[in-house]
Amino acid sequence: MNIETPIPAAQPQARRSLQAQVKWGAHVLTVGGDAPVRVQSMTNTDTVDVIGTAIQVKELAVAGSEMVRITVNTPEAAAAVPHIREQLDLMGIHVPLIGDFHFNGHRLLTDHPACAEALSKYRINPGNVGKGDKKDRQFGQMIEAALRWDKPVRIGVNWGSLDQELLVQLMDENSRRATPWAARQVMYEALISSAISSAERAQEMGMKASQILLSCKVSGVQDLIAVYRELARRCDYPLHLGLTEAGMGTKGTVASTTALSILLQEGIGDTIRVSLTPQPGELRTQEVVIANEILQALGLRVFVPSVTACPGCGRTTSSTFQELAKQIDDFLRAQMPVWRSRYPGVEHLKVAVMGCIVNGPGESKHADIGISLPGTGEAPAAPVFIDGEKKLTLRGESIATEFQTLVENYIENRFGSAKATVEAD
Ligand code: SF4
Repeated sequence: MNIETPIPAAQPQARRSLQAQVKWGAHVLTVGGDAPVRVQSMTNTDTVDVIGTAIQVKELAVAGSEMVRITVNTPEAAAAVPHIREQLDLMGIHVPLIGDFHFNGHRLLTDHPACAEALSKYRINPGNVGKGDKKDRQFGQMIEAALRWDKPVRIGVNWGSLDQELLVQLMDENSRRATPWAARQVMYEALISSAISSAERAQEMGMKASQILLSCKVSGVQDLIAVYRELARRCDYPLHLGLTEAGMGTKGTVASTTALSILLQEGIGDTIRVSLTPQPGELRTQEVVIANEILQALGLRVFVPSVTACPGCGRTTSSTFQELAKQIDDFLRAQMPVWRSRYPGVEHLKVAVMGCIVNGPGESKHADIGISLPGTGEAPAAPVFIDGEKKLTLRGESIATEFQTLVENYIENRFGSAKATVEAD
């Protein structure tokens, strides 16, 4: 075989959208253009509960959500919004709040100027702004509020609340075609037309194109891919990406990951949300963890140190290595809110926790710090590799605690001094 050219590395395509600015207080978050793909999440508290909502926003932000959307559905919820903002500022939580409006957003944004001001972005669903002649007027009132308060908007179309008048019109047109399209193709067209025509209307009213984000959410993976490919082809507005009603647990995680990964790899998507239904007892922050992991796995962002762990097999008949892998992973995630500022660059750390001698030493050498635990029948010793070299061997009952201490020391030595260097510069 004659091999003359190296195999090119796979990498996500560059994105080509406009760049929006999401502001709150003295802070600015760029979205779209060459900004990193941003992670968004949404609370499931009653917005009227100021403290409960502020606490959940904080949890989502600490988990890595860079924008948090809250429901604004009643005058009471609108009245609560500025107090939630104040509470977050008091807690030192610097994350922009996005208002999610349906049906009465035009009234709430007009009647509650403090709410309109406290929010950093408004989500408008063109399918839920009103019917008949009210539709244009009420949509216009929301855009006027965005212009008055200098806020970007997301025109968020969802197939569960698609503009029915537009859909009927497109169905009528379709029935007159010599070869009518399938109903699914008409639905795709309705989603995209609704988003783009609403954005054009907002621009006619004076909004800058760069301050308009679009989304067209559907719940099927192939539908989402088809719609966003076409949406990205037709416009350069920043796009918010998410599989709506993805479901819960493994199904929701896999479906969201599949759909978002394919599109992100093609350079489509500027913000993402994983719309996971929490399982009983599951934390709301799980949707943020998954969104972060999708971006990290694709090499688009780095949020937390990575723990490489083998799946285990017949050579690992005890649960020791599973427990250690989980303990180290939980420990690193729990520390990140503090470590992000204390140890700049720590998110790039690679730790390996391996189950036996087959791949353990090799994988551990590739990590910054790794441990190869003894498999069944192997000597009860766990060699530790640091920066590719075997440095010591742990034995006995306290391997887990000792390895965690070694990881902490490694981080202090490597990234603690990195911070000192940055500060000295
Ligand atoms: S490293 Fe060892 S324990 Fe882990 S999967 Fe491979 S053979 Fe099994």
